[in-house]
Amino acid sequence: MTSEQPRPTEPHRVVIVGAGFGGLEATNRLAGAPVHVTLLDRRNHHLFQPLLYQVATASLATSEIAWPIRYLQRGRPDVTTLFATVTGINAQEKRVLLDDGEALPYDTLILATGARHAYFGHDEWEPFAPGLKTLEDATTLRRRILVAFERAERERDAARRAALLTFVIIGAGPTGVELAGTIAELAQDTLPPDFRNIDTHKARVVLIEAGSRVLAGFADDLSAYAQASLESLGVGVMLGQAVTECSADGVVYGGKRLEAKTIIWAAGVRASPAAEWLGAAADRAGRLQVRPDLTVPGHPEIFAIGDTVLIAGPDGNPVPGIAPAAKQQGRYVANVIKARLRGETSAPFKYKHAGSLAQIGKRKAVIDFGRIKLRGTIAWWIWGLAHIYFLIGLRNRLSVALSWLWIYVRDQRAARLITQGSSKVAR
Ligand SMILES: Cc1cc2nc3c(=O)[nH]c(=O)nc-3n(C[C@H](O)[C@H](O)[C@H](O)COP(=O)(O)OP(=O)(O)OC[C@H]3O[C@@H](n4cnc5c(N)ncnc54)[C@H](O)[C@@H]3O)c2cc1C
Repeated sequence: MTSEQPRPTEPHRVVIVGAGFGGLEATNRLAGAPVHVTLLDRRNHHLFQPLLYQVATASLATSEIAWPIRYLQRGRPDVTTLFATVTGINAQEKRVLLDDGEALPYDTLILATGARHAYFGHDEWEPFAPGLKTLEDATTLRRRILVAFERAERERDAARRAALLTFVIIGAGPTGVELAGTIAELAQDTLPPDFRNIDTHKARVVLIEAGSRVLAGFADDLSAYAQASLESLGVGVMLGQAVTECSADGVVYGGKRLEAKTIIWAAGVRASPAAEWLGAAADRAGRLQVRPDLTVPGHPEIFAIGDTVLIAGPDGNPVPGIAPAAKQQGRYVANVIKARLRGETSAPFKYKHAGSLAQIGKRKAVIDFGRIKLRGTIAWWIWGLAHIYFLIGLRNRLSVALSWLWIYVRDQRAARLITQGSSKVAR
């Protein structure tokens, strides 16, 4: 695959790196175009990240929010799916470089490699405060949360038991808020009848945020509602307090030390190294700065989309790192490629913000559609229906709806499994 032969009859080769929201949408929208698509991902599954926190909190199983990429493309003979990790790009020779030394040629390249959590220069905190981005992250968090309750059940020392029953979430964006609310409900509603030596109602959930409000991307009144709802679930909300230390025993924030055995990082993200691969300009979060048509400056044959790029929206602010934005960009790029093959030009990418949603507990959510703002149970129903709608496949939709119904009616969370080890190795 490393030497390029003349290909007079072969279709245009589009290589798409990343089968997340952006890459998958671009692949889907290229159906019927005179191209051959190679879709690469270092994971074999497409992941519905907005519901990852439900796996981390034992509400949903991993298979309910992830699908094998190969299976999703089974009806597309024009798409080759490869399970492979990209380590660089040779833009001069138009090749994608893989970790096993292979080099894959392309005519057009789409980089849709997303982002990962970032620790603002404190990478040493990661082992103590894992973030949430992959299925492995979610099952690791689930394990830590459930093991903390198990160890508390056997702990005789009151201070150590209190630390085991203290759960700290750093960062009060949607993921932090959703995790805090769900862990509080797990402790208040789901677990109490199952333990004999501890009262799980006494578990402490603390949400720490350096900014001045929770859900900073939402309108002020929705932030205030979310904070009040969290507090009514027993969550301690600490605003305007930056965390300055994380260790196996707890955190230091606002100059105070809090003993806690479970710490979760939901505070910051860093783009994939796509900009580094190309030696292209990036912002402080590593987001590649693309042109208005989402191409990389100096490389009209390379597009970059989704969480890994920085581009201004119609209001002048950066397009947010959310699934609908990545999908809109994937759709746009597929249309540009099709237009180019017809010899046509395209207008610049224009982002349309549909709204922001966050769940606070099993009966409360906030929705900010701009002019229309919703809160409470009605917002929760819309939140639930929207998420079920965006899942892939009828089986998963039914399965998630049933799991939520069980939580709603019976407070039971079916995925309370401690995997990856026995009680001997429980951390
Ligand atoms: C916990 C969490 C909750 C979220 N909640 C919401 C929400 O409620 N609503 C919302 O709209 N958005 C939410 N988001 C954000 C949303 O998931 C992202 O904006 C969206 O996934 C971005 O799509 P993408 O295609 O850019 O990247 P991704 O969907 O992250 O896909 C990137 C893909 O690239 C692959 N990849 C990366 N590097 C390589 C490599 N070197 N080689 C091969 N493959 C590679 C990855 O495996 C992945 O499959 C949430 C994100 C997280 C982490």
